[in-house]
Formats: sequence, C-alpha cells, structure tokens
Amino acid sequence: MQCSRLDALICEQEHLSSLSRDALEAVQLSGLNRLLSREAGRSGFYKDLPEHLNSLSELHKLPFTTEDDLARRAGGILLTSQSEIRRVLSDATSGTTGLPKRVFYTEGDLENTVRLYMAGLGELIFPGNRVMICFPFSGPFGLGELIAEAIVRLGAQPLKLGSAMRYQDYSAILDGEKPDCFVGMPVQLLSILRVCGKKSLRRALVSGDACPDSVTDACETILGTRLFPHYGSREMGMAGAVTCPAHTGMHLRENHIIAEIVAQDGHVLPAGEFGELVITTIGMEAMPLIRYRTGDLTRILPDACPCGSATHRLDKVKRASSGPDITELDEALYPFPQLVDYRADRIRKQITIDALVKGSINPALLADAAAKALPGFAVSVKVRDVCPEDTALYRGKRRILPDSERLALRRCFPPQLTALFPVPRRHRPA
Ligand SMILES: [Zn+2]
Repeated sequence: MQCSRLDALICEQEHLSSLSRDALEAVQLSGLNRLLSREAGRSGFYKDLPEHLNSLSELHKLPFTTEDDLARRAGGILLTSQSEIRRVLSDATSGTTGLPKRVFYTEGDLENTVRLYMAGLGELIFPGNRVMICFPFSGPFGLGELIAEAIVRLGAQPLKLGSAMRYQDYSAILDGEKPDCFVGMPVQLLSILRVCGKKSLRRALVSGDACPDSVTDACETILGTRLFPHYGSREMGMAGAVTCPAHTGMHLRENHIIAEIVAQDGHVLPAGEFGELVITTIGMEAMPLIRYRTGDLTRILPDACPCGSATHRLDKVKRASSGPDITELDEALYPFPQLVDYRADRIRKQITIDALVKGSINPALLADAAAKALPGFAVSVKVRDVCPEDTALYRGKRRILPDSERLALRRCFPPQLTALFPVPRRHRPA
C-alpha cells in the first residue's frame, strides 16, 4: 500500500531520506530540547522547567499546561514578538476563569497548517476536482481560507461555501457546480446528503467535531466511499492528524506534535488505552505548548498501520463531557434514515430534542432510542419536516447544552458569537 503523504511531508520538513520510528523520536527529542532551552533563557510561563531532557521517557515528569493557563497566561507562553503574529484565535469563554483562551500563530505556523492540509486532502482531492468547503470563512488565515489555499495548491478548485448555508443553496451548488469532494463537519455532511442527495459528491474529509460511527456509516453508504477524518485543534494550529488510504486511524504530524494519552489522574497510559490526549507542540513557532491537556478523549492505536507509516495514529476523538454525551445520542438516532439534524437541550434530568426529518417517522421511535442511549434522563422529541430554507442546527461543535448555559450565552454575547454555539431551531417559514 502507498505510504501516507504525511510521511513524505515529514521527511521533507526534517530532511530525512526515510521515516523510521527512531528517526521520528530523535526529531521529537531534539525539538523538545530546543524548546526547553529557549524557555530557560527567558522569564516566560515555562521558565522553571528543566533546560534539557535525556530522553522522551522523561517528558511525563513535566507539569501539565491547562486551558486556564491559555486564558490567564497566554502572553507568558507566547514565544515570538507580537510583530510576527499573523492570527489570534480566541474562545468566547474557557475553563473556570471565564476568560477567553487565546492562541497565536506566526506565518510559519499557518504555512505548516496548509502543508498538513495538503497531505490530508491530497489523499482524496486530485487536480481538477471541485471541492465544497463547509467550514467558516473568517478572513485572512481563517480556517476556511487555509483549507482553500491547500486545495488550490493541489490543483483543485475550492468552493467557499461556509457552514451556514440553507439546504436549498447547497442543493443549487451541487446541481450547478458539481463538486467532487466535501470538506466540513461530519453531521453537516450527513444532513446535506440526506436532504439534497449525493449528486456529484464522491469523497469527503470530515473534521471539526466528533465523528460517530452511525454518522460515518450512513455517509459512507450514501457516498459509496470511505470518509477521511481529520483531527486538529486550535492549540496545534487546527491541523494535527490525517487519514491515509488504509482508513485505520489518523496519523499524527509527529515532527511537530508529541502526543501522550493520560488517565484522569494524569498518569500516562500505554498505546491502546483510552484517555485524554496531551500534546507538546514542539513545531509551533508562536505558542508552543508543553504537555497541554486537550480535554479530547482518544487512544493511540497499538498496532502498525497497513500503509507502513512509522507515525502514531489516533483513534476516533471525542470531547470529554461532564454531562450526557451527544455522541451517545448520535449513535442511537442517526441510524434512522429519515433524521436530517437535531439539537438537544437539557434542563436537569429532562432532555428535549428538536429533530428535522425528511420523510415520515414516529417521534416515539426516536424518543425510545434516545432514552435507551441516555438512561436516567427523561427524553421528549419534537419532529418537523425539513424545509429548503433550513440551515444546520449547530454551527460549531455539537453538544447537549444545559438550558441555563444556553440562556447565559445568549445574554452575554451578540448574535455573531452565539452562532459559535448551538442556536435555537429556525421557525418554519409561513
Ligand atoms: Zn496509514
């Protein structure tokens, strides 16, 4: 089997003739020690860390960096001058501080993101293809723009659609532009496929949110091809791990990211065991992080990939959730082929589901399936037919939002910010 394009990229970036595990770990240790040495020479956030490690096995002795550190101490973590910063991403709120979590990027960071996108997208996008991009376009160096740049460099044509279009608009694009490929969030892809049909679409890269098996299976059945999941987070420049032609996990760009999986108490787990992903982003220029707890749950797959790559692979990733997990609902509800989209809200032990469907379905069937998925919760389901004017019910990561939190968000932030969070379903036009 052909090796992943990521291997070729790492070899090029690290001046290696071939990629072995030993070579990769030597790159990681040298990158980590370069970073520690720089941190020791300044009075920043990491000033108390050792200047040098003898081996990667000593990494676990270093303290974690948390989401709150990014909110409180971003300036102390920033390793470059402000004049070198090309983009800053800021969350509305984060962690326990309620302060925005900020991540900074240099031009070099963003170039590395584009290169990683090229490696991932290059597995499914070929010269001359048309690609619908259904991620937000937020200005220079925004997520949509970086993906579009990668697609252009691959010799294909990006269709910059964003994430908020109506189904009738997606349908018109599918009819008029005849895109070959889709890049966007997994549930969004399934919703478009179930409302508009497959039409010209052949292949898809999905990212930005958990990818439940039920959604993957349904999309792959309609498309007739396997999905290419991608994993990234803001802290790793929105680009972390890509799927190779073997479709068995996501290969990490390990020359820039050292990954560990830890248990809740912080001890490092062996490959194969599920826990929280911790990243040390040795390849980031503006804001390298040391042992950052991502809050994402996954595992490093223990066996070798059929493609032969020496890089570690992540299994499916989902967000740690203190309340009921929307992924459990997804697994229970998306096997119903009539379901287009839904949003779920929670008030204490009551879950309310507003579902958009195409075709007839008894809401009691959805309610039964949801109640089995979330034992201990009372579930009510309201169903209505999807309209051509409908848009996605979530504009960002999907989760079951406590009612108090939803109302607080709507009070605190203007509409353009609340669009990052689950929004109430649109009323059906008269
Ligand atoms: Zn592989």
